[in-house]
Amino acid sequence: MSFVSLGCPKALVDSERIITRLRAEGYALTREHKGADLVIVNTCGFLDSAQAESLEAIGDAMAENGKVIVTGCMGAEPEKITERYPKVLAITGPQQYESVLDAVHRAAPPKHDPYLDLVPPQGIKLTPRHYAYLKISEGCNNRCTFCIIPKLRGDLVSRPAGDVLREAEKLVAAGVKELLVISQDTSAYGVDIKYAASPWQGRDIRAKFLDLSRELGSLGAWVRLHYVYPYPHVDEVIGLMADGKVLPYLDIPFQHASPEVLRRMKRPAAQEKTLHRIKRWREQCPELTLRSTFIVGFPGETEQDFEMLLDWLDEASLDRVGCFKYEPVRGAPANDLGSPVPKEVTEERWHRFMAHQQAISAKRLKRKVGSRQQIIIDEAGPTVAKGRSMGDAPEIDGTVYVASKKPLKVGEIVSVKIQKSDAYDLHGSTG
Ligand code: SF4
Repeated sequence: MSFVSLGCPKALVDSERIITRLRAEGYALTREHKGADLVIVNTCGFLDSAQAESLEAIGDAMAENGKVIVTGCMGAEPEKITERYPKVLAITGPQQYESVLDAVHRAAPPKHDPYLDLVPPQGIKLTPRHYAYLKISEGCNNRCTFCIIPKLRGDLVSRPAGDVLREAEKLVAAGVKELLVISQDTSAYGVDIKYAASPWQGRDIRAKFLDLSRELGSLGAWVRLHYVYPYPHVDEVIGLMADGKVLPYLDIPFQHASPEVLRRMKRPAAQEKTLHRIKRWREQCPELTLRSTFIVGFPGETEQDFEMLLDWLDEASLDRVGCFKYEPVRGAPANDLGSPVPKEVTEERWHRFMAHQQAISAKRLKRKVGSRQQIIIDEAGPTVAKGRSMGDAPEIDGTVYVASKKPLKVGEIVSVKIQKSDAYDLHGSTG
């Protein structure tokens, strides 16, 4: 069986679950479509460009193999797939693990495998063994106007805290050194189940952002929080960061700073006084790294809105920032807002944004020169290894290049003296 996994870390977790189940049933993974019994394509439907990439991946699988099962976000709109590829064997939506398995059983019935129990108890991970994504909920209760995820994935469904903690425990026992907590809205965790408590290690743990973070922090691995919105209760977690229980890192997708644009985007927590809050967080936890993403060129964004965003960036002085050019997503309410921003204006704003933020990020990073940082090693090398500080998430943030006399192992956490910084990365040595 061959598998293509596209899209965000949440989709990656879905892929891991499907692969784990299939491996448990004795199916083997191959690297190539050619010669495989079938191909599963886990698609992303977030943006039109992601849909195009998904359709291309399905096309490749059809051409090279011909027996193809499609799952993931694009599966919520099957006609888009069948129009182009009527011979696809089955199409299932996001998180429909059982339907994917049924389709696989039909297309390639499982063989009896006496080695069933050899599958490691933590499941098969697509990320390197030393870090793993931990999905705490599915779906989203927000209705941001540029996003169709709630339409595709439904409202928020939180996992009981006990379940999440048991999975985290198994991962740590299997050698995972860093847990990346993900969901569509991590700060909303538990709202749907009224923060119901569930048993773990003989205690009842509430499905609350603070409680879950505290317990995850007790497992002895780095815990990194992604997709958090600046609701007032997030302040409580900063204390855990200051105490070293969870990483001093928050990934908050602010998306904009102009109140008018945020209103049109219908962003959660848009009314909160974020600059004031960021200042307080940093007072409480000076090591805090803040990462965020923004959208420029959103319908109706004026030059004044955009300049307000640049000024806000100066004030907020975020450490790590990504910026997207607005792209209309089919089915998203933002398409009906009117006043589209011309492409060349969006482009020009994107360049201005990036140049502006790059200077801020470089300045923030420079503060670390001369300090000692704990670095987790991602890639070993003969003289220089690649790693990340507590302020760098895998894939999206910077790299720390570590010179060391003795060879370093992947997953090892070492103390590094930082000697140099550039726009995104740090350089240092263990000596
Ligand atoms: S918070 Fe907004 S952008 Fe994120 S998934 Fe929910 S609706 Fe989409």
